[in-house]
Amino acid sequence: MSEHRVDVVVIGMGPGGEDVAGNLAEAGLSVVGIDSHLVGGECPYYGCIPSKMMIRAADLLEEGRRINEMAGSATVEPDFGVVADRIRDEATDDWDDQVAVDRFVGKGGNFVRGRGSFDGPGRVLVNDEIYVASKGIVLATGTSPSMPNIPGLKESNPWTNRDIVKVREVPKSMIVLGGGAIGIELAQAFSRFGTEVTIIEPAERILGVEEPQSSELLTKVFGDEGIEIRCGVGATSVSRNRNGFTVALADDTSVTAEHLLVAAGRTPNLGKIGLKTVGLDDAARPVFTVDDQMRIEGVDNVWAIGDITGKGGFTHMAMYESGIAFDSITGASSPRLFEGHAVSRVTFTDPEIGSVGMTEAQARSAGLRVSIGLADSSTSSRGWIHGEGNAGFIKLVADADRGVLVGATSAGPRGGDVLAMFNLAVHARIPIAQLRSMIYAYPTFYRGALDALADLD
Ligand SMILES: Cc1cc2nc3c(=O)[nH]c(=O)nc-3n(C[C@H](O)[C@H](O)[C@H](O)COP(=O)(O)OP(=O)(O)OC[C@H]3O[C@@H](n4cnc5c(N)ncnc54)[C@H](O)[C@@H]3O)c2cc1C
Repeated sequence: MSEHRVDVVVIGMGPGGEDVAGNLAEAGLSVVGIDSHLVGGECPYYGCIPSKMMIRAADLLEEGRRINEMAGSATVEPDFGVVADRIRDEATDDWDDQVAVDRFVGKGGNFVRGRGSFDGPGRVLVNDEIYVASKGIVLATGTSPSMPNIPGLKESNPWTNRDIVKVREVPKSMIVLGGGAIGIELAQAFSRFGTEVTIIEPAERILGVEEPQSSELLTKVFGDEGIEIRCGVGATSVSRNRNGFTVALADDTSVTAEHLLVAAGRTPNLGKIGLKTVGLDDAARPVFTVDDQMRIEGVDNVWAIGDITGKGGFTHMAMYESGIAFDSITGASSPRLFEGHAVSRVTFTDPEIGSVGMTEAQARSAGLRVSIGLADSSTSSRGWIHGEGNAGFIKLVADADRGVLVGATSAGPRGGDVLAMFNLAVHARIPIAQLRSMIYAYPTFYRGALDALADLD
């Protein structure tokens, strides 16, 4: 077994790992980037990009249908093959990462395809080679789709996000197990392409991590579009025959469909990577905590970034954390430090649900004196002009004592983009008085902020 001396080893080349490895290599460090599958990770091949291509196409179909209400007449004929081609050719290069590998190598990095694991402090084993890292190791191994322990589920071989992105024709019917962001985005996209969709969510509402108003809004819109939602009831068993899947539910009913998509959370890829060899207890959950420079506490010179940190399972979080780890590894004179008070996220349903910072419930349980501002976007000037598809709202969560926003939700057409101003307001702790004094262009969706600000107690 040969040994190679390098500055930094990066295990996992998803959005976080690829970014930090490339930047460190460009900065002149000797960097080895290791990935067992595809450089780029979940986002471009199985996650954000293919799903957003499906959603863009599905939203076009829906806009086409709205022509009948507002602009004449149109008949839309969905063809998922067009989307499938786009995902294969433009998004994933037929699930080939050569371009990404070349990009990293072009920055001066050394790429190794294989499964990396710790082999003691400062040492990484991959393909029977040892890399000894003088400056440190970055762990960025991401997550995989969780498979809940429901009798018959795994054996029935359902789809996860990794399968559904390769589909070329939509099924006639589909059960979606899980009403979180991933499940509901795909549920609506497939429904708009003609699939009869049933969502099963054991919690009381879909999108349970966000504001209840977001769940109510989507429940109404999905209902109007013919998507069935079964909340508050879990699956007890799954079976499959040649006609499809049957999911038995805890209330003694069952749902049958041609296909089953499991979107029931994510599991960190931290198994069998030699955590014990660096003194981390791999049986403990969470396995580790990181400090504000993304260094794993309790071990020297190991950084963790991306989904595995549990600080927000989003590509933008992986890349944000990559920047922090970069500064820490390179010893930047004023390093960026992790700040978690303004984490933004968007659920790309139609209406989009953009959120930042705390929900009302989180702010209350943090003991803040909370003030809420809520405005219906459909009755704002722009919402009213927009007409069909205008459902939405802006909800602001303020810390009344400090006079700043600590959280916000903007739901509606382009809700994720309208979020930008709230993202800034929460991040920079802009006084509410200053937000009220700003000039808001008429008639934009973001102008609805004025109504929500006026509604704050
Ligand atoms: C359907 C779907 C839609 C999504 N949409 C969005 C969205 O719209 N916006 C958004 O911000 N986020 C979205 N996400 C989440 C986003 O994809 C993740 O947050 C992001 O990919 C996390 O990046 P990461 O670097 O932590 O790891 P990952 O992207 O998970 O990459 C980890 C990499 O590590 C490799 N690896 C794992 N273990 C090892 C090992 N031992 N040795 C070598 N390599 C290893 C894997 O092969 C993989 O390439 C979506 C996810 C899904 C599933």
